[in-house]
Parts: sequence; structure tokens; C-alpha cells
Amino acid sequence: MHEMSIAMSVIDAVTEKACQEGCSKVTGVELVVGKLAGVEVESLKFCFSAACRDTPADGAELTIKEPEGRGCCEACGERFAVTSFFAKCPACGQFRVTVESGQELAVRSITIE
Ligand SMILES: [Zn+2]
Repeated sequence: MHEMSIAMSVIDAVTEKACQEGCSKVTGVELVVGKLAGVEVESLKFCFSAACRDTPADGAELTIKEPEGRGCCEACGERFAVTSFFAKCPACGQFRVTVESGQELAVRSITIE
């Protein structure tokens, strides 16, 4: 499952960070998952809560920020919010849109004790 492998890599990353800091317990994890990242956020939360057992992140509160996708029209330069990779420019109606953001998938911050 896609979300499970993401959850496990997040837990690996925060566990490593907690060890570097000399701390043993992660109490909070904040993720940024763009709306175009192709990740089911509810599924990711579920996988995280299952995968964090017996790790320093056990019981950590998971917060997920979901920034809107942003695109830029190659034809006229208009910048606007996009919800898919097949976005239509609201200014000129062209479909030649470059997606500039919304695919983020990153750990923004962690809280450790
Ligand atoms: Zn345009």
C-alpha cells in the first residue's frame, strides 16, 4: 500500500531525528501533503497510527497540512489554483498548464520530548 510505505518512511525519518536529538519520544509530527501528491490523507493517518507502534513515534499526534495545487499557464502566464494535472487556464482557456506546487510530501516539523 502506497500510504503505508509513506507512513513508514515518515516514521523512519522522525525516529532518526529523535535519536539525533538524544530524545526518545516523539509526541507530534506535522506533514505537508500537497493536494496533488496523490496521497489519501485519511489512509495515511490510519497507516501512521498502525506503523508507529513500538517506535519512538508511538502515539504521536499527526497533523497534516494540505496546500492547494498551484499552476501557471504556459500560454498567458496566469497563475491560479489547480485541483488536477489537467487544469484549464481561467484566463485564456488553454490546457497548457505547468503545475508548480501541490505535489509536496514532506515532514514540516516534529515535536519531541
Ligand atoms: Zn492562460
